[in-house]
Amino acid sequence: MLVTYEGIVIARREVGDNSCFIDILTDEQGIVEAAAHGAKKLNSSILSSAGLFSYSIFCLNKTGLRYTVNSAKPKYSFHALGSDIEKLALASYFAQAMRYCTPSEQNQLEHGADSPVRFLAAALYEIMSAEQTGRTLSGIKSAFELRYSAMLGFSPDLVACENCGNYDCENGMIFLPDKALLLCADCFNPEYGGERTALLPDTLSAMRQIIFSPADRFFKFRITGNAEKQLSAVCESYFLSRAERCFPALNYYNTLVRNRREI
Ligand SMILES: [Zn+2]
Repeated sequence: MLVTYEGIVIARREVGDNSCFIDILTDEQGIVEAAAHGAKKLNSSILSSAGLFSYSIFCLNKTGLRYTVNSAKPKYSFHALGSDIEKLALASYFAQAMRYCTPSEQNQLEHGADSPVRFLAAALYEIMSAEQTGRTLSGIKSAFELRYSAMLGFSPDLVACENCGNYDCENGMIFLPDKALLLCADCFNPEYGGERTALLPDTLSAMRQIIFSPADRFFKFRITGNAEKQLSAVCESYFLSRAERCFPALNYYNTLVRNRREI
């Protein structure tokens, strides 16, 4: 049986000299693993579509539970990601995170959910065009982590203070990641034993934009200095605690960033 899915290759395993297995992120079926026979031959028609981060329309042959790539038509190339090691590491982290958190053979668009394929395509596009847009990789990473947490059903309540409904207390707003909510400084009990972050105004504003914006807007904010560092720490820790694991590509990305800062 032939089936057609639009998707992005988020993992690839080599098999023998000429073939590979690819994991394709799709909206209709979650992760689809497909064999790509002959994909490594230079004259193969699926050579570019079987590459990591290839965004293509895949025509697959389904036999029982197994898929084989029949043909593929490239839709967009994120090839340029490979020319910058930091960008490549960040893109690989996004791919590993989505591969781990997306089930196989399950429709991802139920209940009006955002399209995971468009979400990842937008994230990869933002990484690739960071110089042109003036947005930082750190800000893009934070937006991915917080928005993706929300897509997985772990959206924090960032509307207002959980207790009194204050939207923006002049004494500050405090984020409690374990409870996924905000309290204003006046309502916060200093004896609370869990994690807490007193958010800078720019951090809270960016977090609200990431959570409440439509799908095409949540990367589009600018943040610098201490607020950028705080946003980065809050979003990374929030996502990893929900995913309940770390990712090799994230460790590698963070090492690259640390080394760059030390130079
Ligand atoms: Zn309050």
